[in-house]
Amino acid sequence: MTRLEFHRPDTLKEALEILEKFPGSRIVAGGTDLIVLMKDLLVKPSALVSLSRVKEFSRIDFNADGLHLGPMTPLWRMEKHDRIKGTFPALFQAVISLAVPPIRNQATVGGNLCLDTKCIYYNQSRVWKRALTTCFKGGGKICHVAPSGKRCLGGLVAETAGPFSIYNAVLTIASPRNVRTLPIEDFFSGDGIKPNTLAPGEVVAGIRIPLPPSGAGAAYYRFSTRKALEFSRVNLTGAICLDERGRISSARLLVGAIGPAPVEVRKSLVPLIGQVPSEKLWSETAKGVAGEAVRLSRSPRLTPHLQAVVTVNTERIFQQAWREATGNSA
Ligand SMILES: Cc1cc2nc3c(=O)[nH]c(=O)nc-3n(C[C@H](O)[C@H](O)[C@H](O)COP(=O)(O)OP(=O)(O)OC[C@H]3O[C@@H](n4cnc5c(N)ncnc54)[C@H](O)[C@@H]3O)c2cc1C
Repeated sequence: MTRLEFHRPDTLKEALEILEKFPGSRIVAGGTDLIVLMKDLLVKPSALVSLSRVKEFSRIDFNADGLHLGPMTPLWRMEKHDRIKGTFPALFQAVISLAVPPIRNQATVGGNLCLDTKCIYYNQSRVWKRALTTCFKGGGKICHVAPSGKRCLGGLVAETAGPFSIYNAVLTIASPRNVRTLPIEDFFSGDGIKPNTLAPGEVVAGIRIPLPPSGAGAAYYRFSTRKALEFSRVNLTGAICLDERGRISSARLLVGAIGPAPVEVRKSLVPLIGQVPSEKLWSETAKGVAGEAVRLSRSPRLTPHLQAVVTVNTERIFQQAWREATGNSA
């Protein structure tokens, strides 16, 4: 049996020093994903560094700057927070759709954002994988999802990735030598082998979301094979903003879980700009979204069945975002 160091420092400074001292060490937050990966021997850290004693890491603050979340904030606290629910409905919907309450009691927002990708061919036991050629993520030269492809198509199934992107979150990243801020769009690498751009020893030390402008509305939907205890097969996060005349001034839609980063569909939404929202407008727009997501992601994960799911639910997402934008979300 290999020896595993476990550290629980009181401060961020100490945590960063320990991460630097033990190359190959990993942060453990709630442990709801990392420990599963360790049991399957998919991750073999030299040491675990828990952030649970770093006090400022569990805070939820609202101020003129927006919402500030410490990375160790457990998901259950976000779920019970009325202001998060009211101000950032897409984030709230994503959080409550994740797993089941006992897991959300333990799981943290930082751990969700830093979640590794998942793949039916990779997240298996060693015995199961013996019958398969090693894939890119295991150090081999093939992706079993797209055998003619040249990259790992592990899926980023983290529920909060789409909502944090649509709300333009900004992350604080700390390393032993500096603290920097990083817009969320620069956080996801698009590489299934390592889906975020954190360097070894770096820690997500905070997440800030600016307050949405007036006239903005957003919504989240996820589809999974079973209703509970199942990762998304596809998820959608959409947002619109209405100008003072009630016309659409901006619209965004992210399709998640079909590849290593959320895919932002843009072309299909151009005809929305300047229009007065209507049921017909949403259904016309929804028709082009799945095809564009397939082209952008180049991922066979978006099967014809899931494309139909995307079409139907794009319409619903925009209806919901419209209700939010006009303050009629009941
Ligand atoms: C049965 C089951 C169902 C699940 N269903 C879902 C689901 O539907 N959707 C979903 O998104 N997830 C799901 N999960 C996965 C997991 O529970 C969540 O993603 C959770 O939010 C992970 O948070 P955690 O605190 O437990 O992270 P951990 O497991 O502790 O860590 C996850 C990763 O993040 C890194 N990390 C954590 N904090 C930081 C930080 N501050 N800075 C840098 N790196 C950090 C860790 O090193 C690790 O690599 C499920 C898990 C289980 C067991």
